[in-house]
Amino acid sequence: MKIIVVGGGASGMCAAIIAARAGCEVTIIEGLSRIGKKLLSTGNGRCNLSNTDQSILHYHGLQSEEDTRSLVQKVFSVYDQEELLSFFRELGLLTRERGPYIYPASEQASSVLDCLRFGLSHEKIRVICDRIVQMIKPCKNGILVQTDQDSHTADRVIYTAGSKAGLKENSFDGYNVIRNCGHTLMGPLPALVQLKSDTKFFKPLAGIRVNAGICLLDETDKILADEQGELQLNAYGFSGIPTLQVSYLASKYLADHQTVYAMLDLLPDMDDEACYHYLLQRGQCCLDRTAESFLIGMLHKNLGIALVKAAGIPLHMPVSGFTEETYRKLCLQIKHLRVPVLGTNGFTNAQVCAGGVNLKEVKETLESKLIPGLFLAGEILDVHGDCGGYNLQWAFLSGMLAGRNASGVISMTDNP
Ligand SMILES: Cc1cc2nc3c(=O)[nH]c(=O)nc-3n(C[C@H](O)[C@H](O)[C@H](O)COP(=O)(O)OP(=O)(O)OC[C@H]3O[C@@H](n4cnc5c(N)ncnc54)[C@H](O)[C@@H]3O)c2cc1C
Repeated sequence: MKIIVVGGGASGMCAAIIAARAGCEVTIIEGLSRIGKKLLSTGNGRCNLSNTDQSILHYHGLQSEEDTRSLVQKVFSVYDQEELLSFFRELGLLTRERGPYIYPASEQASSVLDCLRFGLSHEKIRVICDRIVQMIKPCKNGILVQTDQDSHTADRVIYTAGSKAGLKENSFDGYNVIRNCGHTLMGPLPALVQLKSDTKFFKPLAGIRVNAGICLLDETDKILADEQGELQLNAYGFSGIPTLQVSYLASKYLADHQTVYAMLDLLPDMDDEACYHYLLQRGQCCLDRTAESFLIGMLHKNLGIALVKAAGIPLHMPVSGFTEETYRKLCLQIKHLRVPVLGTNGFTNAQVCAGGVNLKEVKETLESKLIPGLFLAGEILDVHGDCGGYNLQWAFLSGMLAGRNASGVISMTDNP
């Protein structure tokens, strides 16, 4: 059986190896000059490839969380994390845990790519680079794959073209090809991305890192998401893992032209009352200070000044003149700093895209319901995960399943 894999990324390479091991003649067609380029930049060059917390709740879909989690669950019931780690062990890659995060033991993303490349060459998989696939359509002899330079036919095609997250603007992507196959796309929207806010407020805070809580709110103050961790403040707004985790919902609400706020808790280790009483007590020790310097030693100096200003307290006001109301106002800003979310940092700076091919158009075998013999896997589908190795895990495992099913190892006829 001849199989063409479109896209030599995380998903495509796994699909190709599994299909070749099942005896298929496999060719990967990749648009860039080499395969696995995105993989090299993952996890800051260390490649966070999975996570010890395997809750399905770490996966999301733009059209329906339920449909997405149901598909992910079905895929993981065939190929799970254990299979993934043993697949990599067979390729010579050892992994290690750092807290819940799983990395290659070498902590080099390049070693993940190298081991996959060794696997491709061991299975005698043909890799054709610098060919951008432009069209896929059924033909007399199977499925025709037309690139910008030539055309190929195969019995089955596995489409793993990923998303436009992390790519330069106007780079090629795989969306049009799959749209022209008749598939509908949800979004895509940038996810796992930094958020833009009030630049006047944030500019003096650029470079500050603070352990904080972040709560995403809609215009009625309904809590959409809640995270805690190291927040990085930038001239445009904020980033850091807790921001990335809530960014998909911000992206979704903004795309629907809805107002979104972030409420930052800059002292998450104390509750509101403890913070208020601490400030009162602190006031007694800092009677010779002004409002401008009151928070020095407690928070970053510039952040302290910004919060005093946000509370409407004059900077030159002596602490000795603070009233209970002054402390309450300050406490409110420290614990519930409300800032608008005005946008995201866009696809180029996003780690993944929310959205992708509508899952209603794909069987649980990952075969297209529209074009028999066409399989889809990885980020091109409407599945994205939280930060922490969930996206690569999805790309690898769904790729493996598509590879197995495309090779015809199981009967596909009785699946819906
Ligand atoms: C900076 C960054 C850091 C990240 N870090 C992590 C991390 O640590 N952990 C984690 O789990 N996830 C991480 N991710 C997300 C993860 O990299 C992706 O979810 C994953 O690579 C998706 O795999 P894929 O195979 O579906 O797509 P990709 O890896 O994007 O591969 C798709 C391939 O298809 C090719 N292609 C596209 N269209 C065509 C076409 N028309 N013709 C031919 N070829 C085509 C592309 O060039 C590409 O090589 C990160 C992403 C970024 C951008």
